[in-house]
Amino acid sequence: MPSDREPFVVVGGDAAGLSAASKCRRESDREVVVYEKGSWVSYAHCGTPYFVKGEVDELTDLLSLSPDEVDERGIELCRNHEVLDVDTEARTVSVAGPDGEFEQPYGDLLVATGARALTSPVDGTDLDGAHTLHGLDSAAGIRAHLLDPDTDHLADVGGEAFVDRERVERYGAMDPPETVAIVGGGYVGIEMAEAFSTHQCDVHLFQRGAHVLPPFGEAVAERVEAELRERGVTLHLETEVAELTGSEGRVEHLVCTGGTELDTELALVGVGIQPNTELVADEPVGTGPGGAIVVDDHGRTGVDGVYAAGDCATMEHAVTGEPEWVPLGLTANRAGRAIGSTVAGDPEPVGTIAGTGVLKAFDCEAGRTGIIDPDRAREAGFDPVSETVTAGSRSGYYPGGSETDVTLVADRNSGLLLGGSIVGTDRAAIRVDILATAIEQGATVGELERTDLAYAPPFSPVWDPVLVGAKVLRGSVEAE
Ligand code: FAD
Repeated sequence: MPSDREPFVVVGGDAAGLSAASKCRRESDREVVVYEKGSWVSYAHCGTPYFVKGEVDELTDLLSLSPDEVDERGIELCRNHEVLDVDTEARTVSVAGPDGEFEQPYGDLLVATGARALTSPVDGTDLDGAHTLHGLDSAAGIRAHLLDPDTDHLADVGGEAFVDRERVERYGAMDPPETVAIVGGGYVGIEMAEAFSTHQCDVHLFQRGAHVLPPFGEAVAERVEAELRERGVTLHLETEVAELTGSEGRVEHLVCTGGTELDTELALVGVGIQPNTELVADEPVGTGPGGAIVVDDHGRTGVDGVYAAGDCATMEHAVTGEPEWVPLGLTANRAGRAIGSTVAGDPEPVGTIAGTGVLKAFDCEAGRTGIIDPDRAREAGFDPVSETVTAGSRSGYYPGGSETDVTLVADRNSGLLLGGSIVGTDRAAIRVDILATAIEQGATVGELERTDLAYAPPFSPVWDPVLVGAKVLRGSVEAE
């Protein structure tokens, strides 16, 4: 039987884990223990490209809560403690900390272990100069590598009490790279292209597929690619990287399967992430898309008292109703918070996701939500109709506007809005929230077209680009 006399134990001290821990403590007097295997807690991965770029001064600027602030919330925070194993029969976890290993009983358990960066299938990623960007220490290593060896690197990156000093000092001693290779045209690769360019590097981006940013669709990809090229980034599309090679343990070359080679001193491998689910691999906990832990509408795994949230877990998709794995920040925070409330005694659903994402590539902004890919829509049982329009972001006579491309997808039979993307330079990305809201509410394209959006010349034309897209798409949906 679950016992709320035993603590609520949380594995992972970042977005999902600390949201749950904080909410539970706020709503109840239950004992809450958080185990975090690293030194950092409550940090923003999302800000790391901007830290590398230099727009964010110090690593500590990326913390939402310091360990002391976590402590003040009445949470027992154990940093540098790795949970090695879970026994859901005995309701215990095995923990390895600085003082050795011990067993911790739990009443409820939250697995909020996040994900890790993949490097496969690229060989040679153990060489110095081959980086991934996942966590503050990797960001600190990249920034140290980019700056002159004379820099006081530890002072520059900040957070001396937490940071991996050896890594910062090792990379800080290296000469800054002239040529940087980015492997992977996902959002990390694109954001980092901007960061490396700011450091005056010659940036080459390699993407296996025909376009960057596959989840955003072609209309977005083409504009982002144009922006990258205009800013001096060399794109190698349909080019698969096989390995990084070098001598004396340092990256010197990148080699592609088709024979293309590049001399480079720094390679960023951003080919995806994998959920950290090993802890429950031997427990009767199901996994689903992406290998993530499948949970129900309250974040429950199906094993009594065991919850999962954030990058290691699935969420229900608002359009398909099926479990999906879209590891993003709000999802982790929201699910964690809901689980914290549930274990405190006030059950709260974790909500659904529409896979809403935004990103910036230099001056170009893009957003996407829902189902854009027609094959994916057909697999989900829809008959997708899609239209792309280009419309002004402000009234034509008002300065500062720019062309905004909107792609909308709807189901031919029901008119249900399935997904969409937006790209442009004038507040394009945030407009995707209109689409996300409509999708979460189950709106048809006709209902979107009749939505009372704001209008004044500095902000939008009378017909916002989203409404123009909806008008055109409704015409197509009703054409047959
Ligand atoms: P994490 O933040 O990964 O935290 C998991 C924690 O668990 C880690 O601290 C880890 O050390 C700890 N842990 C793992 N295993 C154990 C164990 N066995 N014992 C103890 N502790 C353990 N999302 C957006 O929505 N917008 C963005 O712009 C955006 N940008 C991003 C940029 C980058 C470079 C990256 C890497 C991610 C970005 N994300 C973005 C994704 C977002 O950061 C994640 O979705 C979010 O951090 C997930 O939170 P989490 O708590 O599930 O996992």
